[in-house]
Amino acid sequence: MSELLIRQFPCLSDNYGFLIHDPDSGETATIDTPDADVILAQAEAAGWTITQIWNTHHHFDHAGGNETIQALTGAKIVGPRYDTHRIPGISVEVENGDVISLGRHKAKVIYTPGHTMGHVCYHLPMDGIAFVGDTLFALGCGRLFEGTPADMWYSLSRLAALPDETRVYCAHEYTEANARFALSIDPDNRDLQVYAAMVEGERARGEPTVPTTIGAEKAANPFLRPDDPAIRARLDMATADDVDVFAEIRRRKDMF
Ligand SMILES: [Zn+2]
Repeated sequence: MSELLIRQFPCLSDNYGFLIHDPDSGETATIDTPDADVILAQAEAAGWTITQIWNTHHHFDHAGGNETIQALTGAKIVGPRYDTHRIPGISVEVENGDVISLGRHKAKVIYTPGHTMGHVCYHLPMDGIAFVGDTLFALGCGRLFEGTPADMWYSLSRLAALPDETRVYCAHEYTEANARFALSIDPDNRDLQVYAAMVEGERARGEPTVPTTIGAEKAANPFLRPDDPAIRARLDMATADDVDVFAEIRRRKDMF
């Protein structure tokens, strides 16, 4: 089985587009459709024809290009069953635990409510990669537009349980601002300090900070570390539940 080829490129103001291509079957999937024109041009430049669209959630900067791409390529659209009514052109409805395929490469659907109530992530265990939409960001997590802190904490915990070496493709380049916030509540974390310095260099050079890894996020991302004694001490929440500490971190980020 050939390795998947991954093409990552900026879309809109701070989204990333991702195309994945299986050389054996010739299939290509776009993960979400932030900008149909850019995605189609990227596919053409690679010599790939989009055969599938995998949506993580219904927001316009994730599903807004569905119908244009489907009309021009005939791609089938995979998306969360919960959001069938608001994913344009959906043809394959998936829910937690379902497995979809790109050629012989398998992706497992992980239900991750919080940012929206229908949000799903796609984990390709054999390839060691995960597309996490607006659930987990490098040094951050998605805003809680629809779900509760408990929903999001459940979702992040599931992603944190993936193997440390899993490469995580987040849908936005928010890392520099996330690093500033993370350092404000976990300033003595050596892993975070090193990570933040690396991000500063990457951004200064105009390089993406995505993908990250589960291991790097577990070590430095405060949203995955509500059990950390230093963060708890700073928030004066030494004995609180993880979900309450997570909620407080999210609240502070919203006001940062
Ligand atoms: Zn979103």
